Amino acid sequence: ARTKFVCGNWKMHKTVAEAVQLVKELAAGLGDAAGKVQVAVAPPFTALHAAAQAAAGSAVEVAGQDVHWEVQGAFTGEVSAAMLAEAGCRHGIVGHSERRQLFGETDEAVRRKAGALLAAGLAPIVCVGETLAEREAGRTLEVVDRQVRQGLAGLDAGALGRVTVAYEPVWAIGTGKTATAAQAQEVHAAIRKILRDLGGSVSDAIRIQYGGSVKPENAQELMSQPDVDGALVGGASLKAKDFLAIVKGAL
Ligand code: 13P
Repeated sequence: ARTKFVCGNWKMHKTVAEAVQLVKELAAGLGDAAGKVQVAVAPPFTALHAAAQAAAGSAVEVAGQDVHWEVQGAFTGEVSAAMLAEAGCRHGIVGHSERRQLFGETDEAVRRKAGALLAAGLAPIVCVGETLAEREAGRTLEVVDRQVRQGLAGLDAGALGRVTVAYEPVWAIGTGKTATAAQAQEVHAAIRKILRDLGGSVSDAIRIQYGGSVKPENAQELMSQPDVDGALVGGASLKAKDFLAIVKGAL
């Protein structure tokens, strides 16, 4: 069985002091879930190092929200995978729909970013998901198929085994509209098939997280679906009580 993986994506929230405080509350509150559920948080770049220090020795892991694919150079505003690793990250999120929609991130950029994370020893969380217009046009599986195949193109089975895919329907992000458990499972099962195509047997070990208005009230039902292996949580990850309740929903 796959260990469930719950990651909080803090987006552009939390100062250094707030991040340290929240990580400490999470570390102290995991209880039974520590070691049974993989738990990570993705603070803004400015708070990564302090958050990782606060998390040291606990079951809380730290993720970057984005990364640049080059190793170093004249790329103003960008951060490399090695820099994330040095700051204490174990994971990096790539292809979030906000990056795709607001900052022009392409499937090709997602692929290069995932590769850069893997090369630096980090584990990519590769986000995919359709917009409302795409869902209403009946194109959900086509869009997700393209994003998964192009985002993971060229990875060998060993690398693929370190990837997590996050299915985040864009219409469910920050809207309070969650996909039903059945809607989520349908797309997760389709993603699993694509992963089998790409990676053979290793694909059965890859976690597929659901994201989009995950809350304490719906987390358990979503994560009880056979191919829903965890959650990528935005708004509800900003408060220790809510995020801990979601993590415990994975037990
Ligand atoms: P919300 O949980 O706020 O809907 O955000 C989901 C998300 O985008 C996580 O990456």
